[in-house]
Amino acid sequence: MTATDVLVERNRTWSTAQAPSDLSLRPRLQVAIVTCMDSRLDLFDVLGLAPGEAHVLRNAGGVVTDDVVRSLAISQRKLGTREVVLVHHTDCGMQTITDDGFRAELQADSGVSPSFAIETFTDLDEDVAQSVRRVRRSAFLLYPEAVRGFVHDVATHELREVDVPGRSGDRRARTLSPVRLAAS
Ligand SMILES: [Zn+2]
Repeated sequence: MTATDVLVERNRTWSTAQAPSDLSLRPRLQVAIVTCMDSRLDLFDVLGLAPGEAHVLRNAGGVVTDDVVRSLAISQRKLGTREVVLVHHTDCGMQTITDDGFRAELQADSGVSPSFAIETFTDLDEDVAQSVRRVRRSAFLLYPEAVRGFVHDVATHELREVDVPGRSGDRRARTLSPVRLAAS
């Protein structure tokens, strides 16, 4: 039995016990979260999320790549989100490798140098700040200034915000009205 078989079996058991869902396509909290693929990070637990509340985008490191910007642009322009939350974390696998080392490994094994950036990092807070700046500088988002970055401690479960001073006089800063939550 493969891991995939295990998951399919788990779904069979779980799905039969669920009531039909009528959740909206548009996230109720109007927020998109970008985070790492780390298996210890359960964003639904960490942030008290429920299905239907947020877009969750994940990759190795929670890096704001072009593809993440693509998803954020769709999220904001077509599906109504207005804020971005970045969650990086302690003990990240991306701190254990280097760009040059991994690139050399891929090239040695395949004969091809990858066209993508590896995006490893050593300084966690600086990596969060870098991601915040990439969101702020994106030309494709409706709310580029509405972004905050955090470090999640995988040992204590706490979330710590990283202060990233903004540029003054940003031309596209918009005022956000508070999100309206339906009583639950
Ligand atoms: Zn990670």
